[in-house]
Amino acid sequence: MRLDDSPESDNVEDRRGMKKAGLAIGGGAGVIVLIIAAVLGLDPNKLPIPVGGPPPGGGGVGAQKGEPPKDGYKQFASRILGLTEEVWTEQFRANKYGAYEKPKMVLFSEAVDTKGCGSAPSAVGPFYCPADRTVYLDPTFFNELEKLGGSKAEFSQAYVIGHEVGHHVQNLRGYSDRADRMRKTPRENEFSIRLELQADYLAGVWAHHAEKKRKILERGDVEKAMQTARSIGDNRLQEKMKGRSWPESFNHGTDKQRYGAFLTGFNTGDASKRTLDAFFDDTATPFDRKTGELQNTALFGR
Ligand SMILES: [Zn+2]
Repeated sequence: MRLDDSPESDNVEDRRGMKKAGLAIGGGAGVIVLIIAAVLGLDPNKLPIPVGGPPPGGGGVGAQKGEPPKDGYKQFASRILGLTEEVWTEQFRANKYGAYEKPKMVLFSEAVDTKGCGSAPSAVGPFYCPADRTVYLDPTFFNELEKLGGSKAEFSQAYVIGHEVGHHVQNLRGYSDRADRMRKTPRENEFSIRLELQADYLAGVWAHHAEKKRKILERGDVEKAMQTARSIGDNRLQEKMKGRSWPESFNHGTDKQRYGAFLTGFNTGDASKRTLDAFFDDTATPFDRKTGELQNTALFGR
């Protein structure tokens, strides 16, 4: 990627290196240990960690309560987020969606406390919390992604950030609510797939406009993002972990549909209401229970 003249967002906070002792220790025990530590004036990081927690002293940088690493990652993340702010501000205006309210982004290591979505360990992967409108990312996730057949190339990381920002766009536009209303109904997974594939599509739409405006892409970049989109398809992940897959349990979409959605967004750059609504339209885009796939060749290709 070429990011030299990309705008840097002010909305990135780097919390890497800040140890979340309470969470690392886990649940009630952690809270008690923290209270004891506060009363005794001890450093909670030096207290013994019960079985089930991380190994004492483990975690490298994260184990010191210090500065975030000076590895340039904050600048990279700020540029990607800055590019999403630029594109979505413009697209909200062009499509008469009102003002685009920018999300925040928090970089963390090991575990993080959110305002409204509880605490989360790195293992959950990057996520967006609608309650505090924040994208949470531990960049070491990309090492795990690579083990799963994904790519940690910059544009692949940009696709993942673009997907999480896509969830923010969905939050502002009411699509998240549509999926939420289906929670605990027989159609919960289907609507989760509709939401996730639309987020992949929105990542593609973002990349389309970012490229048009700033010429950020270099040879091979798009292939790397598609490699990642494929590697995190439900069928691929399940086959990798368990040797087979169960379409009825899919909740993000298959490999083919994930990269199909990204690619369609990237090729068209179309953020119109009509197209975005099609992801949630039974008639335009029916769901095939047997394959766990949405049927709409205009959105996902063949
Ligand atoms: Zn998602």
